[in-house]
Amino acid sequence: MPDLKERLRSHLVELARERDPYFATQGHFYVQQYIRQQLAAWGTVEHHDFAVNGRTHRNWILNLAAAKRQNRPPILIGAHYDAVPGTPGADDNATGVSVLLEMAKAFSEQPANYPIRLVAFDLEEIFTQSDTFGNVQYAKFLQKQPLRLMIALESIGYCSHQPNSQKYRPGLDRFYPTQANFIALVGNVPAILDLIRLSRCIRRSGLGAVWLPAGMRGQIVPATRRGDHAAFWDRGDRAIMVTDTAEFRNPNYHKSSDRIETLNLNFLTQVCTGLTEGIRLL
Ligand SMILES: [Zn+2]
Repeated sequence: MPDLKERLRSHLVELARERDPYFATQGHFYVQQYIRQQLAAWGTVEHHDFAVNGRTHRNWILNLAAAKRQNRPPILIGAHYDAVPGTPGADDNATGVSVLLEMAKAFSEQPANYPIRLVAFDLEEIFTQSDTFGNVQYAKFLQKQPLRLMIALESIGYCSHQPNSQKYRPGLDRFYPTQANFIALVGNVPAILDLIRLSRCIRRSGLGAVWLPAGMRGQIVPATRRGDHAAFWDRGDRAIMVTDTAEFRNPNYHKSSDRIETLNLNFLTQVCTGLTEGIRLL
């Protein structure tokens, strides 16, 4: 556990820097290469390229074998590696990518029951037009290929133990904790059993976990669509976003203050441990 925490910290140090693909091209390139190099320690890294406004963007992919029965549909775990201009994006989403990189190690050393496909997505933050997103482009590229489950790691390292530190959309606040020290799993209705099983495993690692089913592909609470998972809801896959709820608790959301020092690395480590264990049991 202390080792894992230190490895996560060293990933964060490399990843948390300005890295939007338009105004921070150097940082963006640096982070791309860091991800490729880290994933390459565990297998053959593939890439999926797509063009937006005459520029090529790149999703990185690593496939890992299942313990047995390789013909099962894979569990796809994704995290976007770009950031909003003007922020080092430590929580959003260097935390998600750090855990993605540690999952490469974890599922190489001890495979899951399903093949694991790790994808680092480009271009989640910049445009409001969603068909330019790296996740949407990749979901299209998959065509009809079935997935066992899609999991998006989206801002997973910020927590606060202060009373009333957790904010909600009106209506939800009566049902959920007011202290911002839990991790949230938001999934579509077909993923409910997985939501329950994964939350249980995260709780076993010592962390509070709550889950929220999002009906109608998240159209009822549009904030639940913000992440790499929504494109997979639209495809009809089981898909879950794992998140600290970002702007609903983190005052540094999309600001230059979204820095490593503001994160809770014990929290991040517990998310990583609990989720990895949970995915192995699926
Ligand atoms: Zn994000």
